[in-house]
Amino acid sequence: MLTWLLSLFNLVVLIMALLFAHESRREGEVRAQKIGLAGAGFHFLLGLAILFLPGIRTPLAWLFGIMLAFSALLLIPPRKTARSLKGAAGYLAADDSPFVPFDERDISFARNRCLIPGSAQYEAYYRMHPERKERDDQRREKGGPLGRPGSIDGGYRPNVSMLVSSFELPNMLGSKARVDPDSAGAQSTYAARGETPPPFSMEPEKATPIVKAWARHLGADLVGICKVDPRWAYSHKGEIHYGEWEEWGREIPEPLPYAVVVATAMDSEMVATAPHTPAVVESGYNYARGAYITTILSQWFGRMGYRAVAEHNRHYDMLMVPLAVDAGLGELGRQGYLIADKFGPRVRLFAVQTDMPLVPDMPVDLGAEKFCERCLKCAESCPSRSIPRERRKTVERGLLRWKLNDDDCFDYWGKVGTDCCVCMAVCPFSRPYRSIHKLVRYLLRRSALARILFPHLDNLIYGRKWKPRKPTEWMAYP
Ligand code: SF4
Ligand code: SF4
Repeated sequence: MLTWLLSLFNLVVLIMALLFAHESRREGEVRAQKIGLAGAGFHFLLGLAILFLPGIRTPLAWLFGIMLAFSALLLIPPRKTARSLKGAAGYLAADDSPFVPFDERDISFARNRCLIPGSAQYEAYYRMHPERKERDDQRREKGGPLGRPGSIDGGYRPNVSMLVSSFELPNMLGSKARVDPDSAGAQSTYAARGETPPPFSMEPEKATPIVKAWARHLGADLVGICKVDPRWAYSHKGEIHYGEWEEWGREIPEPLPYAVVVATAMDSEMVATAPHTPAVVESGYNYARGAYITTILSQWFGRMGYRAVAEHNRHYDMLMVPLAVDAGLGELGRQGYLIADKFGPRVRLFAVQTDMPLVPDMPVDLGAEKFCERCLKCAESCPSRSIPRERRKTVERGLLRWKLNDDDCFDYWGKVGTDCCVCMAVCPFSRPYRSIHKLVRYLLRRSALARILFPHLDNLIYGRKWKPRKPTEWMAYP
């Protein structure tokens, strides 16, 4: 009886090791594949030993028993006090440090893309922040946030053209971002002439599933709804895309009360080439997807008789990560990205503000904060050393977080001519959402021990440092 029980247990472990090796091969994880195969080989030999060496059966039974008892410890749930369960407000510092709202004029992109040397806005901004002028001017001279696009791959034109063409779609749609029922009607080929009908009355419980299903049908991979916390709105406008210079420095209007927050998942094989051009092509493509989804959604709200504002790459009034946390899409990670359910940081975020009453979602605890405290993978792989390595977060502008050095990060973008994405690619939460990784995410949500143990196991199995994968054939650069 003992022989059969031991053999059965050993066989289950052997099959799991083989499955793990197979999955790792699909993902191009050479080290993990070798570990899986070595484990399978070991359990094959152990199976023979169980059958032919009776003396090892009793000690082995004890060993397997201890392994099972230890696995049972994984069932102990975490305490229900995670910061993320309070939504983005959970990241406000517990001491009395005042929260300082974000000003879009200070965002590196806005400074480098929109302040034209010699213009009144350029002069006004650097009068307010002379300490930023020298470094910004140097970056501008090198070509702006992406420097010479695709330079890491010799500016390979097919890939660079893919990234530039994808980024064109938000450009085309951004001026339509702000919708009110009158303007929605006026812009439409199909609108009836005459007075705008009153808002279509619908119970929030009925409207919410329609909005979510419509967003998913349009291509969203994750959708959540939150009540908008005005703290996460930019204070002043800094990004100018359509020559509306009179807008620069204007106060951003009070946000609408609800937001539909949307995440699109980036292809893991494209991201795995980071910091090379396929990764930035995938970013551009996803920014285009987000602009498409949020533009249609905001226009839909307009046709329903409500106001709406599309938040995408060519029109942001709000910070997307806190909105996504509040909408229950994920948690804030060490590298400043959202760690989203199912996809980790391998997502791009968008939203639509609206005054149509909807049912908000609850924030979630994925176990990311505790995981990040021990993992450090993104910080150790970051080519510009921009991600903090301290185990604990620090307080900055009234927020408790790991503060990225965005100037150093953008300097690296300018050097390689892509948006890098290494910290996104290396993150264990970015692994494809299937088989063993699904089980890992399931346990992280539910187990206190998994949050302590798994970061170390991940480092052991996959290695600590990032190695870019080869691109798929059609994206291969010379
Ligand atoms: S994008 Fe690249 S340079 Fe910037 S923080 Fe991430 S890994 Fe570092
Ligand atoms: S790589 Fe590790 S430390 Fe960085 S965000 Fe992902 S889980 Fe957190």
